[in-house]
Amino acid sequence: RGGWASDSSDSVASSGSDAEGSLYKVILLGEHGVGKTSLARIFGGVEDCADAEEAGNTYDRSIVVDGEEASLVVFDIWEQDDSQWLQNHCMKMGDAYIIVYSVTDKVSFEKASELRIQLRRARQTEDIPIILVGNKSDLVRSREVSVDEGRACAVVFDCKFIETSAALHHNVKDLFEGIVRQIRLRKDSKED
Ligand code: GDP
Repeated sequence: RGGWASDSSDSVASSGSDAEGSLYKVILLGEHGVGKTSLARIFGGVEDCADAEEAGNTYDRSIVVDGEEASLVVFDIWEQDDSQWLQNHCMKMGDAYIIVYSVTDKVSFEKASELRIQLRRARQTEDIPIILVGNKSDLVRSREVSVDEGRACAVVFDCKFIETSAALHHNVKDLFEGIVRQIRLRKDSKED
């Protein structure tokens, strides 16, 4: 299995870790089929479970980033139903956001921009960590969105950017570590 689990497989924790204030809610946003569930399941270490079709899930786990433990709860609930209430709630509840598109699907890339705008509107005065993720980077021949387009979009929207392949486990660990670093950066600058 990918290297992800090796360094922290013994630190899987449920919520209620005692280090105060270190349980972070991370919300996955994005079109249907871009790979949100695949990414979340890799994070949760449960990708091989039989109930892969189950919709709407949360995964909580502690990971060590830069020598310090952080507990994340990853919410894969965006598409659970099309309720406006749930989607509004998602926009309000996150400590950080992962906006996913597929590099093989231009429409999902455009949708990612819309989500970024929606998020900005919902959280106007807050500086929340957001990472724009171009997933399915392994599908080289059906690529519709270049790395440069992805990166440029992230610059415009003032967020971080990474390309991943859930299929190959490429950059998935970096993605979740990146989220922790972004959260810490903002927390530290507030405390100064
Ligand atoms: P969601 O609807 O955003 O949760 O997307 P899923 O995680 O259910 O993935 C949709 C489909 O894309 C599934 O068939 C996955 O196996 C496939 N998929 C997800 N990530 C990747 C990837 O990085 N590469 C490839 N080739 N397929 C992927």
